Amino acid sequence: MELQANAWKYVIGAGLGATALYFAVPGSLAKDVIYGAMGLASVVCILVGVHVSRPKDRWGWYLLAMGATCFAFGDSIGNAYALIFHRPDPFPSIADAFYLAGYPFVFAGVLRLSRNPSRAAKREDFADAAIVALGALAISWQWVLSSYLHDPSLDVGARFVALAYPSMNIALVFIVARSLVFGGASRPFHKLLAAALITMCLADFSYDVLGLHHSFGLENPTYVLFLMAYALLGASALHPSIAEVQPAPARQAPNIYRRDTTGRRRIPFVALAGFIPPAVLVIGAAFGVSVDLPVMASLCMAVFALIFLRMMWLIGRISGQTLEIEQHALALQSSLTARETLESDLRHQAFHDGLTGLANRALLHDRVEHALAAAERTGSLVALCFGDLDGFKSVNDTMGHDVGDRVLVRASRLLSSIVRPGDTVARLGGDEFAVLMVNVDAQQSAVDFGQRVVSVLRDAPDFEGSNVALSISVGVAYASSGTTTEQLLSEADSAMYAAKDEGKNCVRVFESSMRSRMVERLELINGFRFALARSEFALHYQPIVDLASRQLRGFEALLRWNHPTLGEVAPGQFIPLAEETGFIVPLSRWVLIEACERMAEWSRDSVDDLILSVNLSRRQLNSPDLADEVRTALALSAIAPNRLVLDITEDVLMEDPDQARYSLSELRELGVRIAVDNFGTGYSSLSHLQRFPVDILKIDKSFIEPLTNHDPASSALVSAIIGLAQSLGLGVIAEGIENNDQLQHLVELGCPEGQGLFMASPMDAEVGDAFVSQSSTDSAFT
Ligand code: C2E
Ligand code: MG
Repeated sequence: MELQANAWKYVIGAGLGATALYFAVPGSLAKDVIYGAMGLASVVCILVGVHVSRPKDRWGWYLLAMGATCFAFGDSIGNAYALIFHRPDPFPSIADAFYLAGYPFVFAGVLRLSRNPSRAAKREDFADAAIVALGALAISWQWVLSSYLHDPSLDVGARFVALAYPSMNIALVFIVARSLVFGGASRPFHKLLAAALITMCLADFSYDVLGLHHSFGLENPTYVLFLMAYALLGASALHPSIAEVQPAPARQAPNIYRRDTTGRRRIPFVALAGFIPPAVLVIGAAFGVSVDLPVMASLCMAVFALIFLRMMWLIGRISGQTLEIEQHALALQSSLTARETLESDLRHQAFHDGLTGLANRALLHDRVEHALAAAERTGSLVALCFGDLDGFKSVNDTMGHDVGDRVLVRASRLLSSIVRPGDTVARLGGDEFAVLMVNVDAQQSAVDFGQRVVSVLRDAPDFEGSNVALSISVGVAYASSGTTTEQLLSEADSAMYAAKDEGKNCVRVFESSMRSRMVERLELINGFRFALARSEFALHYQPIVDLASRQLRGFEALLRWNHPTLGEVAPGQFIPLAEETGFIVPLSRWVLIEACERMAEWSRDSVDDLILSVNLSRRQLNSPDLADEVRTALALSAIAPNRLVLDITEDVLMEDPDQARYSLSELRELGVRIAVDNFGTGYSSLSHLQRFPVDILKIDKSFIEPLTNHDPASSALVSAIIGLAQSLGLGVIAEGIENNDQLQHLVELGCPEGQGLFMASPMDAEVGDAFVSQSSTDSAFT
């Protein structure tokens, strides 16, 4: 391997050795033999190199080998003359034919081996090579060509042959300069080959010059050049780089960024060559040497013309590059502008709500922070209004998200239209809005503004052409010294919740008493996390009785939470929070299973036809898993489906009637029954009711309460409800019966069943056990 890699060096070494031997050996025969052997050796080296390295383009090397073979033949024929005829060969002879025939092979070989498909030939390379060749021509003309041209001893043929050698060499200089030196042929073997051919040209030139002065003999030092030209030719073919593929150019940068270093390196050589014709003229004039003036002047003009062309191309390239630079600068500028636009878009997006274009929570937070800092310095008053649309969820659910979105946009515009310049309107997500007011002159101004918000929304005509009547609940909080951003935000939030609690569509100002509610809310929400696992929930059961016979008909399961710090929490307090947080989903699943199992136990022990009422939440009704959950509870407890009654409050039913109808039909298919809870409070039209797959109406306690005073209007209403239920084939249960008067009245009106504190309050499971056993033996309510 190492031998192979260094073979070219050994060949150069051997060439030097052979050259030394050439001069060392006495007699012309030995010298001729060495000389002839060197020519043949160069051919052998080329063939070996091709065989070993297997270059891609073998033909280039074969052409060179042919050229070298011709030269070697030429040598041998010359030597043969001396050997056989004991005189130098004549001029011209067959040897000259071989020599001259070798050049075209060398030209073709060099052209092939210097081909570089990834680099387009450049006109500058041609011009530079031509200038170098003109320089060589000037020298050759001055010292060789013109002498041959005017040599009277030469006949036409001899003159032609004599002129042919220097001409071939000039052509070779051009090809070597163009292809191997300037043309981007960059592999090491190219350099060796160029060295070999330039050495050969120099050898020929000095041969001619010396020959013209009849001072050429076998001991002439010029033979060093001839012999080394062969050695370098052989070495170039043995260099391992002949097997390499021409390296692909690195990814091209735009012209303006490319530095033409090779171009710069060649300038001194080209300039030197360009100076040769005028220099010859100068030398001729200065030293009285005869100079062929017309030819030298023509060469000067040719060089000048080429330099002029080079200049024109350079100017063209520079102006092209200037144009390119300008285009790049423009492109850069437009890409910078595009980036800036994108950045400002992203910044805007990061701090604004996509739907309404209002500030978002992050921006509001930031503005509140700045406003509070400014207020600390100047003593000005900062107020924050929080608003939450009332009933927006049902707009979204019943009319679709498109209408919902339009309502939000409209609400945001209304809010923006009434704020003062400098105040910030923000959407905090969902249907929550906020307005930050800075430099408020008096606390009352913020309340007045809150009132305006409420009235503007309430009075907005025909929301989005959809007859949506919207209102908003507003909470107002003021910053005092030391108020933090978080604190101000949560105070405004609590005030808003207070406004919701107090009937919605109104304004409430934050009071410290609201803080405890806020804390409690948080405590309840946090408490959900482990409450189920810690068995903090329990079910209480309120008996449902036959009003006429006072027989037990069943129970309604009512949820209780024994909170570890807050004590017993009523469902009205935590169920809305469970709905809000989604905790209602696992909680309701537990209620269903627990209640059904309890009922199964009571049925085993005693009465087996008791009904069980379980309340369904809003989320449950909309859940696609509801039917599966009910099925599971029934399967686990093995109670008959018709004994399970699911209570759905009337307003929940009316939120999305289509969805409700679908869910209820699915439940009905399981065989369970559906009761409309709190009937009479949800404004459902009776025609709607007819279309729902329901079985029982539970008359809300607000209708039962006035029965105490024998109020004729109330009894007419209750009577109408009972009549309606019967005409629709529905069962009726009266809720909240608190005294005997109410009970009697209901019996008179024909109400079959009821529940209430008068008969029994909700009881825990243990009390329920005893209650069930007792009721199976006698009437529970006497
Ligand atoms: P609801 O379904 O209308 O339940 C009846 C409520 O009236 C119960 O309140 C009950 O204790 C109360 N009550 C019973 N008799 C009388 C009476 O004579 N006079 C008065 N004034 N009230 C009486 P509770 O237990 O506080 O439940 C409140 C609401 O919480 C229930 O109203 C129901 O909507 C909901 N709820 C209770 N348990 C659950 C549950 O497991 N899941 C769901 N989703 N909601 C539940
Ligand atoms: Mg109920």
